[in-house]
Amino acid sequence: MIVIEAASHLKVCRTADVIVVGGGPAGVAAAVASARNGADTVLIERYGHLGGLATGGLVLLIMPMSDAAGKQHIGGLCQEIIDRLDTFGASVHPRYEDLGSDDSELVGYWLSRGCRFFASEGRVTLNALFDPEMLKCVLNEMVEEAGVKLFLHSLGARAVVEDDSMQGVIFESKSGRQALLGKVIVDATGDGDIFASAEAAYDSNTDWKLRSSKLALVFRVGNVDFVRFAAFRQSRQDEYNMLMSEIETLGGFSMWLPAWTESVVWFNNYIPGLNGLSVEDLTWVEINARKKMLLTHDFFSRRVPGFENSFIIDTASQVGVRVTRRLIGEHIVTEEEMQAGILHEDTIAVIPARQWDHSIAEPLVYIPYRSLLPHKVENLLAAGRCFSSDRVANDILSPIQCCIAMGQAAGTSAALAAARGISPRMVDHRALQERLSAQNVPLPDRLKPHIQTV
Ligand SMILES: Cc1cc2nc3c(=O)[nH]c(=O)nc-3n(C[C@H](O)[C@H](O)[C@H](O)COP(=O)(O)OP(=O)(O)OC[C@H]3O[C@@H](n4cnc5c(N)ncnc54)[C@H](O)[C@@H]3O)c2cc1C
Repeated sequence: MIVIEAASHLKVCRTADVIVVGGGPAGVAAAVASARNGADTVLIERYGHLGGLATGGLVLLIMPMSDAAGKQHIGGLCQEIIDRLDTFGASVHPRYEDLGSDDSELVGYWLSRGCRFFASEGRVTLNALFDPEMLKCVLNEMVEEAGVKLFLHSLGARAVVEDDSMQGVIFESKSGRQALLGKVIVDATGDGDIFASAEAAYDSNTDWKLRSSKLALVFRVGNVDFVRFAAFRQSRQDEYNMLMSEIETLGGFSMWLPAWTESVVWFNNYIPGLNGLSVEDLTWVEINARKKMLLTHDFFSRRVPGFENSFIIDTASQVGVRVTRRLIGEHIVTEEEMQAGILHEDTIAVIPARQWDHSIAEPLVYIPYRSLLPHKVENLLAAGRCFSSDRVANDILSPIQCCIAMGQAAGTSAALAAARGISPRMVDHRALQERLSAQNVPLPDRLKPHIQTV
């Protein structure tokens, strides 16, 4: 049985140079970069706050921005966000002068305070734990200061396309269904909702072995005596490991991570066999992950030293969807090219990647501009976890710091394209790199001869 939806005339509520759909790490970075580069920019977000999984998903760790030698490869807006969080005392990270240090006490401290990502090859790397509520405020502040027109509680429903060229987006909100028209559209929905609607090619095949194929519902537990817990874990490791296997066998979660403040931990989790684009599966997670949470917390508070007086603070307001659609773009970043450490001429972000489980031989991975560009649809860019990549590359390059870097590049390029009246495909990558460099985005020295900081 089917229902035919009647065609309707929609009000164009606004026109803009650049429309960014999705206000997660990639989308906020894209909107702020676009506006700061002179474009009249609109950002639409389906929930009532910015930050995507980093805030609503309670994913509370910005992963490595520097390599084992202490060199910082991610800067730009990601660094600015951390700096702004620091002014509120809302993030915890190693001191910049300690990056690359192999001082065992320091490395030991960060490994115990944070997690394994805080050290690469036995040396301290730059990661940051943060307070998600303050991150929401910081992102609001950045978007407001940049002059971005923000629509919250607005779901990007459909692409408006004419002759394979994006014209705008239809969105739904309590004000009804309305249209926005723009010169360039950035799909930062994480799930590629807009490029799928524009009929750009994409891949949504999953490798069930990969971390990224699993859904999650993160929750936070407070009033943990972390010092007592850390001492137990260190001195009675076998007992700790047995407890963690026991809770997993019972169907609960063992994967905890410390939050920015030591009395709080967040339970990251991995629920296999579900699809982040299926409303049934998303509903299943909301119901069943909470049952698992109750089981887990009951177990921890009865059996794990340090958790005796703990309580559940909250659950994530959005399901943890790690990957769904991946654009098939002008270039697909692959596992093989990461292994070979291929430096692309059009690199827009450099990612320290060796810390991952996939044994990446090269310490750095380069993301090319072409991986943000769809094949045939014009006036469209994709940024964030839905960028053009194979399954393993996506698994490694989807963390928050990578998405912010991609978003900053997409927004900057969108502004360049809108100003020149061209499709982002025609933007000269050297002009883009020059602009990124001027915004404190570190790019490889080998690509720099043409870059003059303005
Ligand atoms: C459980 C879990 C743990 C993780 N752990 C880490 C970690 O420790 N460190 C790390 O760096 N990364 C981690 N990640 C990965 C990281 O959080 C994401 O890859 C990253 O947030 C992706 O950013 P994004 O902006 O591309 O997408 P998202 O964060 O998903 O943001 C997309 C935004 O778009 C909005 N949106 C979606 N569809 C629409 C639409 N149609 N219209 C309007 N708005 C829309 C969403 O509401 C959201 O705000 C984890 C992910 C999960 C799920």
